[in-house]
Amino acid sequence: MKDIHILAIETSCDETSMAIVKNGQEVEALTILSQMDTHAKYGGVVPEIASRMHTENITIVLEETIKKFGHSLNEVDAISVTYAPGLLGSLLVGIECAKTLALVYNKPLIAVNHTMGHIYANNIEHHIVYPTLALIVSGGHTDLLILKSESELEILGSTIDDSVGEVFDKVARVLGMPYPGGPNIEASALKGQNTYQLPKPMQDETYNFSYSGLKSYIINLVHNERQRNNEIRINDLACSFQTTAVEELTRKVELALKNTNIKNFILAGGVSANQFLRKEIQKVCAKYNVTFHVPNILYCTDNAAMIGCAAYPLFKAQKFSDFTLNAKSSENIRKYVEKNN
Ligand code: AMP
Ligand code: MG
Repeated sequence: MKDIHILAIETSCDETSMAIVKNGQEVEALTILSQMDTHAKYGGVVPEIASRMHTENITIVLEETIKKFGHSLNEVDAISVTYAPGLLGSLLVGIECAKTLALVYNKPLIAVNHTMGHIYANNIEHHIVYPTLALIVSGGHTDLLILKSESELEILGSTIDDSVGEVFDKVARVLGMPYPGGPNIEASALKGQNTYQLPKPMQDETYNFSYSGLKSYIINLVHNERQRNNEIRINDLACSFQTTAVEELTRKVELALKNTNIKNFILAGGVSANQFLRKEIQKVCAKYNVTFHVPNILYCTDNAAMIGCAAYPLFKAQKFSDFTLNAKSSENIRKYVEKNN
């Protein structure tokens, strides 16, 4: 069969990224222009600034990606783009660019859900074997699901309030660490001990997650200690928080492995860059003789290569979009599955 090259565009948050991906797994070109330094000044992503910066950066990223590819866009087979979920203005910049390229080069347009991208990032260095359990942990999502086949998904559980990444960022902020907080919490935790007694999230047997109680407890603890002029052992608190947050993810993963007896597991999303989380999940997978995969760190955080991977099964199934494609800022994986199953 002829090789399929897909141009992918990702602008759902604060990274302007484009890639060319061959056959849904081989990254031929990838450019990621991050706005992180700009948003760090504000302690989080400012949506209006993010969309403005995407409009400034998108043609630069396109030129750079074509240069890396070394061929004209006439050689690609389709144009894919993240249409959901994410920041509305940011998504629209990518979608308009994708539509323009599809029109000018007369190529099919493929709409990709961002969370599906995080999942399919696992095809870059390994092959996803079905059925597989998947845990998606990112700045916007915490979802545990079963991938039954390339086109059939079942959501087991999701967060009922904050995502785990959001809580890493908020706890980091209250501890005085810059945005994005996750990597800073991880570095600080390495220097600390798990000595703070923190409330354990959801002591239940469902597959759902809840992190807002843990977040509020830490914010209140820090404010109270500061008011009393008591010392806060930042590294110990970072370590205790990370341990509690990861324990809850691991506990639910173990429950799912035990109940489903599925023998493949993939981890995905920005928080999966966390080495402690990787190790703990790997341990529980080993206990149940389950094959564990996680993408290379480069493909864990937002990037267009993962969008090109997720577009490939849609290309094979000829699931193309027309030019009425619009951004769906709140179409999370649950809504996506309900729409497509
Ligand atoms: P995403 O939404 O997939 O782009 O992932 C971004 C989220 O991942 C942010 O909330 C980051 O704080 C979080 N993150 C990135 N690296 C790490 C890490 N090493 N440990 C914990 N969280 C992380
Ligand atoms: Mg993401």
